[in-house]
Amino acid sequence: MQNSKKLRNWLDAFGLDHPLVIAGPCSAETQEQVLAIAHQLKDTDASVLRAGIWKPRTRPGNFEGVGALGLKWLQEAKDQTGMMTTTEVANTNHVDLALKHDIDILWIGARTTVSPFVVQEIADALQGTDKTVLIKNPVNPDLALWLGAVERFYSANIQNLGVIHRGFSTYEKTKYRNNPEWQIPIDLQNQFPDLPLILDPSHIAGRRDIIFELCQTALDLNYDGLMVETHFDPDSAWSDAKQQITPQTLDKMTVDLRIRKKGD
Ligand code: PEP
Ligand code: MN
Repeated sequence: MQNSKKLRNWLDAFGLDHPLVIAGPCSAETQEQVLAIAHQLKDTDASVLRAGIWKPRTRPGNFEGVGALGLKWLQEAKDQTGMMTTTEVANTNHVDLALKHDIDILWIGARTTVSPFVVQEIADALQGTDKTVLIKNPVNPDLALWLGAVERFYSANIQNLGVIHRGFSTYEKTKYRNNPEWQIPIDLQNQFPDLPLILDPSHIAGRRDIIFELCQTALDLNYDGLMVETHFDPDSAWSDAKQQITPQTLDKMTVDLRIRKKGD
């Protein structure tokens, strides 16, 4: 995988010497699950462990996350493996709790980016901290909403910002769960050229067999990192089972992506 200059600067802040790979389960399920996945990831390219603990499900009746309890599991995973940690925050209470538990990176989910009042509240709650925040695109293909969220965080003086491209919902059925609409993140980058751009192939694909090709496209487009849902037993995952890959598959994938890139 190749680094762009801006990623190099950004990663220097984390002390990393390779592109940012964020991996881990869609949802934290149990402490044992979080720790086992973290241990399987720690010797791969993944430097940051992701796990959702507050899960804003589109429709009720699905698993909505273990809640604040999961913050301790992430802390324990960090202590045991040295990986950085990240989780989704969707309101200011989540922000307070995540700050107290020393979560390294916070991400704003697609269902939150659509809501300017909530984005503003979260940005205000983070003002004066040096937290890294990654902003997912809004669910719908609306560049202005995504730009607006970036502007709200910059205006709150949050400098350590990045964006995550997770695809856009459409009413049409396509091979993707969420259409990539590759032009939209390019348009965003044209307005904010220094903003690191990370691909979330998992929520674009909705299925594990096209994760690799999505990652390859992103690297060909000079994306700065990848966030990949990873579970030791994907089919048994409590959320997004079809799109998760194992830590072993992730490890092989990042090696293959590097080889392909070098052979260009
Ligand atoms: C997730 O990362 O598990 C998630 C819920 O993502 P999104 O906000 O992109 O749907
Ligand atoms: Mn998910």
